[in-house]
Amino acid sequence: MGIPVRQVISIGSYILRQELAGRKRYPLVLMLEPLFRCNLACAGCGKIDYPDTILNKRLSVEDCLAAVDECGAPVVAIAGGEPLLHKELPKIVEAVMARRKFVIVCTNALLLGKKLDQYRPNPRLTWSIHLDGDREMHDRSVCQAGVYDRVVAAITQAKARGFRVTVNCTLFKGADAEQVAFFFDTVTKIGVDGITVSPGYAYERAPDQQHFLNRKATKDLFRGIFRLGRGGKRWAFNQSRLFLDFLAGNQSYQCTPWGNPTRTVLGWQRPCYLLGEGYAKTYQELMGETDWDSYGTGNYEKCADCMVHSGYEASAVTETIRRPWKAALVALRGVRTDGPMAPEIPLDGQRPAQFVFSRNVAERLAEAGQSQAGSEKRATMP
Ligand code: SF4
Repeated sequence: MGIPVRQVISIGSYILRQELAGRKRYPLVLMLEPLFRCNLACAGCGKIDYPDTILNKRLSVEDCLAAVDECGAPVVAIAGGEPLLHKELPKIVEAVMARRKFVIVCTNALLLGKKLDQYRPNPRLTWSIHLDGDREMHDRSVCQAGVYDRVVAAITQAKARGFRVTVNCTLFKGADAEQVAFFFDTVTKIGVDGITVSPGYAYERAPDQQHFLNRKATKDLFRGIFRLGRGGKRWAFNQSRLFLDFLAGNQSYQCTPWGNPTRTVLGWQRPCYLLGEGYAKTYQELMGETDWDSYGTGNYEKCADCMVHSGYEASAVTETIRRPWKAALVALRGVRTDGPMAPEIPLDGQRPAQFVFSRNVAERLAEAGQSQAGSEKRATMP
């Protein structure tokens, strides 16, 4: 099993409490992005094309902890950008763990070997390392030769020091089921504690728009992969069985974007980790003033092909708590890889895509300019 028992029990009892309290929308994983700056420039990334004023922004330790407290999610995933570029990351990680949260640091691992001394192994800490397949697949995905070998070396080093390490693998169009299955075998042999896998999402600003999977292709690919691994049972996934079943086309889910609320250097991002269609100043404002029903597959054109874990894992985990026998059957038998697929959500009623990114960036830049002017004025006051 890729998820530690302690974490399963803790998150399961958290969800149970929310359900018993009758809460309709609650967070599971806070996606915390304390910076957008990165030391790679991957073709499928929608974060690194911001102007320098935004790329230079950092959330402080206090900002991060305020977001953790405000949101209350039991798991905090610290992503970016590359979080290891944030000088105060060790303090943030320690302070979040001290709040009894599970912390997942999502990193490309290029700086991990150099920075590992700043951290101590802890059952609440996981390094989730970006690795999009074998040497050929990953180096192509990150647009740089030699990265795969450096990442594998960092994984080996972190494991040798006693850290919990998982790999986070995003699959794109053209991925080959046999090659992916072989990659899963390889990382299992290296000794990773779990695999997180997801199809890529077509960020409207990603430099390479041609290589994202549509829903049908995603389901076919995952059926092909799981078929080669006894319904997925050959590998330890860091995800719920029902999410894997969803990827293979056996479940129809709507996304639950509030399950992974996202706090970035620009504010609380609407509506989800993948789409930046506006920002709220507080978590309360995000939850209370977002028109959740206008998003999701079937509701919005940009959501048509999304099957990403940050949108659907919370749906699958909630279903696991509500109908545990379904998840138990998938765990026992493996993911079904043949037969009819679950009905797809019709797209004929979806609203057209709105392209609001440039306006959002202009607004944020104007705000940054105003606060810069304000602090310069204060600095020159007698
Ligand atoms: S389907 Fe849901 S998670 Fe995916 S992009 Fe749309 S709102 Fe976000």
